[in-house]
Amino acid sequence: MDELSTVLKARALINKVAPTGVPVPIEAYAGEIGAVLRKDKSLGPDEAGYSFEKDGRHYICVNANDRPERQRFTACHEIAHIVLGLPSDHEQLPWWSYAKRPLNEILCDVFAAELLLPYGLFKRFVDKADISLAAIDELAGQFETSTTAAGSRFAAVAGFPCAFVLSEKGAVRYASRSTTLRQGKAWITPRMALPAGSVCARLHGGGVCDGPEETAADLWFSSWDRGGTLLEDARHLQQWNQTIALLWFEDEELPPPSTDRSQADEEGEQGLAELDGILPWPGKKRRR
Ligand SMILES: [Zn+2]
Repeated sequence: MDELSTVLKARALINKVAPTGVPVPIEAYAGEIGAVLRKDKSLGPDEAGYSFEKDGRHYICVNANDRPERQRFTACHEIAHIVLGLPSDHEQLPWWSYAKRPLNEILCDVFAAELLLPYGLFKRFVDKADISLAAIDELAGQFETSTTAAGSRFAAVAGFPCAFVLSEKGAVRYASRSTTLRQGKAWITPRMALPAGSVCARLHGGGVCDGPEETAADLWFSSWDRGGTLLEDARHLQQWNQTIALLWFEDEELPPPSTDRSQADEEGEQGLAELDGILPWPGKKRRR
């Protein structure tokens, strides 16, 4: 089982339920796979939920003491265990920790985020939203899910280059990148320490920030030869020693590769380009 087949199986279930309203009805997902949803008040604060099979029927129990959006995520995570046929590995860690999360658990989280924030439905909201963690908070509220889940899906469906990065204890645990950023080969090294000079590193070190700040793109992206300046909107979640960040380019485009840039510089040195009758129109992109 890998991430792509996980996503495809989640989308197959979404297509059967075909949710149109927000928040999406998780009872409909459970019903579609013939599972019964129950709430359990006896679970401790680090136990999100579990599922079991009895007389050929699946039962999903979520921690009734958790906040409603957490209960929704747990239910979808358990649906993932059932649909993907992956055994639970909930023993050695609290649900919120990414530091030593087993692959199967990460795949069930990916599946759950797909169900809660279905591609087509969520993309329509993202395309109209501002680009900021505050906008992601608002989307999370509308879809009744966590800011972390909404942020990771925000980057996945965004039509412009952006990434959502989750770090824990000062190291990157998960990065979600938009298609354009992946096509531009902007690679965020898994498990790397928060880059020195980034807003995330400062917040993790006890510093503060109030709003997006400019960060050099090559601080975040490895083997990056396009240069450029990112906007970094970051937040430290003290409770879990996690730092989240949204990264994007201000003009919503990738900087050109360095080879294109040196060619443009050469043309500049050789004087004006030949007149072609096409008036240059000022674009969104600032000239270097
Ligand atoms: Zn699990």
